[in-house]
Amino acid sequence: MSIWSKYKELVASRLSDGAVPDVKGVGYWRDKLFQVIVVYMLPVCMIAYIPAMVLCYYLDQPYIAFYDSLAVALLAMVTFSKKMNLRWRKLLFVFTMYLLSVTLLYYMGVYGPGLLYLLSTVIFVSLIYSSKLAYWCIAANTAICVLFALGMHLGLMDSALVNIYTPAAWLAVASNQVLLSVLFAVSIQMLTSGLAQTLDKESSLKESIRNEMVESERLVKELKIKNEEMEQFTYIASHDLQEPLNTILGITEVLKLPSSKKGDGDFENSLDYISFSVERLKLLIKGLLDYARIGRQLEPKEVKCDEVIKNVVGDLQSAVSESGTKVLIDESVRRMAPLAVFPLDFNQLFQNLISNAIKFRRRDVEPIIELSVKEESDFFEFLVIDNGIGIKQDDLDKIFIIFKRVHGDASYEGTGIGLAFCKKIVELHRGKIWVESKAGSGSSFYFTISRHLAK
Ligand code: ADP
Repeated sequence: MSIWSKYKELVASRLSDGAVPDVKGVGYWRDKLFQVIVVYMLPVCMIAYIPAMVLCYYLDQPYIAFYDSLAVALLAMVTFSKKMNLRWRKLLFVFTMYLLSVTLLYYMGVYGPGLLYLLSTVIFVSLIYSSKLAYWCIAANTAICVLFALGMHLGLMDSALVNIYTPAAWLAVASNQVLLSVLFAVSIQMLTSGLAQTLDKESSLKESIRNEMVESERLVKELKIKNEEMEQFTYIASHDLQEPLNTILGITEVLKLPSSKKGDGDFENSLDYISFSVERLKLLIKGLLDYARIGRQLEPKEVKCDEVIKNVVGDLQSAVSESGTKVLIDESVRRMAPLAVFPLDFNQLFQNLISNAIKFRRRDVEPIIELSVKEESDFFEFLVIDNGIGIKQDDLDKIFIIFKRVHGDASYEGTGIGLAFCKKIVELHRGKIWVESKAGSGSSFYFTISRHLAK
């Protein structure tokens, strides 16, 4: 790496204040510009410093030499100091500019580059701070020029070079500095405000592209999951629908046999089997249709959750009283503010969970169902606990798959669709559902519902 690159890297590292922001606004570019000014400042200032020192020697001006050297030392501090933050570096830089301007004006008047430095202070301030501050600089510069005119008038300036000019001639020259300062400040303001608008537009465009990308990634993920679910669903649905059809087919084969080969009572039994299978087929097809219908209700509405649960318990009254089930609604549910949900589906969710809790109860204990909720920042987490027969660890993941039943068809009625319903409904509410359970000691069904459904 060349010495110049190493030097640039060193200055950049000294002047970088924290991480690069995601959205680079005008403020970022002002700091960057200051960095570039600082990088070039020391090497370039030698172009003026060395001839100035020679001139000071020949003209016998030790004070100018002193202040020039002090300015170079301060600029070296701005460039290399390890401890100073960017804010203080900028301040020291502007201070050095003023120090140079004032001393050069004092010792050399219009003859020296003092006015030039005053003008460049305005330009630098509009570039690295803001145009508003640059107008204050113009005011300060004008005051400095007037003070010098006064100084000349009152004979306070003892420099021989300064006294060549009359105060009127001085003001005539100095007013050009003010005029040029205003022109620079105005045009730089135009430039920076145009830049700010472009950067703002760019950052809002970037933001919306980022949001679009996040949204499309989410949609692709969702689509992938839905696709997998669909494949699983088609496989299981077709498999389970075939079961009763196969039974009917088997029985019709038996019925086709000559009567000598059929046992007594086979005919009535076969008809019973057929009607049982047809009923089951009807039930499964209805379940599938209902499953496909979830989510048709497009408008979310605000509901009071404790009222939804009370209504569900009312609808299940005969099962509740027949089984002697106690349904306990926790204070957390009663206290909840109305929540935006798809009401029919939300109702169905509680209906399925509560009816399952009643159905899969233990015969020897009083069935108790407890419903509570936990409020999180983005969602509500509901909990439905029962003290029923529970579920084996190996079966916990299976029960949300359509038509999957883990307690055998004979002992408990059902189609194995209820929890698949629940999963689809919860996903419609941008949530998750899961269960914790131990065979023989009850189950805890958790599900979450997004708070932002209405947005
Ligand atoms: P169904 O109730 O018609 O069988 P579900 O989809 O509602 O279908 O439930 C799937 C299976 O999950 C049930 O067959 C049962 O084995 C198990 N299950 C559901 N809820 C409970 C519960 N509260 N306690 C124990 N097992 C349950």
